[in-house]
Amino acid sequence: MRRFSAYIDGAFVDGEGRFESIDPATGTPWADMPESREADVERAVTAADRALREGPWAAMTATARGRLLHRLADLVAENASLLAEIETRDTGKIIRETSAQIAYVADYYRYYAGLADKIEGATLPIDKPDMEVWLRREPVGVVAAIVPWNSQLFLAAVKLGPALAAGCTLVVKASEDGPGPLLEFARLIHEAGFPAGVVNVITGFGASCGSALTRHPLVAHVAFTGGPATARHILRNTAENLASVSLELGGKSPFIVFADADLESAVNAQVAGIFAATGQSCVAGSRLIVERGIKAPFLAALKEKAERIVIGAPLDMATEVGPLCTRRQRDHIEALIARSLAAGARLVTGGAGLDRPGCYFPPTILDCDGVASPSLEEEFFGPVLSVVSFDTEAEALRLANDTAFGLASGVFTTNLARAHRMTRGLRAGVVWINTYRAVSPIAPFGGYGLSGHGREGGLAAALDYTRTKTVWLRTSDAPIPDPFVMR
Ligand code: NAD
Repeated sequence: MRRFSAYIDGAFVDGEGRFESIDPATGTPWADMPESREADVERAVTAADRALREGPWAAMTATARGRLLHRLADLVAENASLLAEIETRDTGKIIRETSAQIAYVADYYRYYAGLADKIEGATLPIDKPDMEVWLRREPVGVVAAIVPWNSQLFLAAVKLGPALAAGCTLVVKASEDGPGPLLEFARLIHEAGFPAGVVNVITGFGASCGSALTRHPLVAHVAFTGGPATARHILRNTAENLASVSLELGGKSPFIVFADADLESAVNAQVAGIFAATGQSCVAGSRLIVERGIKAPFLAALKEKAERIVIGAPLDMATEVGPLCTRRQRDHIEALIARSLAAGARLVTGGAGLDRPGCYFPPTILDCDGVASPSLEEEFFGPVLSVVSFDTEAEALRLANDTAFGLASGVFTTNLARAHRMTRGLRAGVVWINTYRAVSPIAPFGGYGLSGHGREGGLAAALDYTRTKTVWLRTSDAPIPDPFVMR
């Protein structure tokens, strides 16, 4: 079995315990992982705190920090296929997707490498004649970055890139489900030459590792991606240390198709939106909201494509849908489908686990027109699409916003004015018009409502890892006048 280490204070260590990671394609253990608990968390946070306040990182210019990030970007690009293979092995995400996504992750580090020495302070036009007042932007402090197993190198990059550009230090906690790629990535941090303690990478379980990390008194900010239930635990934990928190949570994103849309394009985008990554994507377009007049031909085309999808081994380049990451995930999907069918949803295709080892589940479509189906409200985090139809634009918007989540949305129409109206009305952090699932380091990303708050990507994300220090300098040599009057 392949053996991985945690990375704490510049050294590769065993962890306080060990656990086996399962290959979701076979259902058997393939790697031996380090389990960190309270003592490792203590060592990692203390190392990050020391690196923040003393030593080479604290004294480093922003330009030099940028150079380290550039070096890291090069190493990610050079090692993309190795990292992709580990991610595919450990999480079941298909190699076609992991190799492309990890190669692109290098661009996120490049973007923030360039930004490191462009984070500027300000001089204020203060309302007192004998004062100079300016703002220094300083790193917010030790950051706890907690990520789930899906797209973990990407979700770590959108935290590490801006936080390192801003001068923070971090403890990254990889998910206990498939932590291999992030633990391997720690080797690149080491090779890039980041001083000891600047980035620590650990993994472990929520209650013993994640909880100790997020309530630690030296943690100043928690950057979290995961589910809303865990987010509530984290908010309770940070009641202890009063750390600031950014939350990137789940979604139930609407995919709206008007009759005037380019239908071939919309069908392909819907396939990408719900079946790519086996639907295990926070932005999955999991609610198809289609104009009633085209529902039948649209669903027929979608069903045909869904049934032709190549399901297979994730390491095979020909595979289009691989296994789910965990059995727990498959059980959850099966139970939610059962409740939806009991509520009256009609199965269009798929619906039952496949007769093969591992955590496979086929592309599934549920027709939910006229049904209060739980599948329209709850996140599957799997390849399951729920379909409803509408007659008017107002009804489409009402259905789209009928969710507690608000992460992404898609609108397919050739009517420009309608695209603008829908954009204004949609309660979601991302609106894709005539496209879906596009991301970039340049574009902020984040949610409304139960999908969380805070934005990752873009310039503002780097500023979010800073806080301002206001400096007052008196320019007069005259003695300070009346000490009892506030100046
Ligand atoms: P999860 O919330 O179960 O776990 C995420 C991480 O939190 C893991 O590392 C886990 O160990 C840790 N954790 C668990 N309990 C904790 C606790 N008490 N304190 C601190 N940390 C704790 O999520 P998951 O099932 O692994 O991932 C799927 C979820 O993530 C879905 O809801 C999905 O939509 C969401 N997600 C969101 C985005 C986004 O950018 N908005 C991206 C990907 C995934």
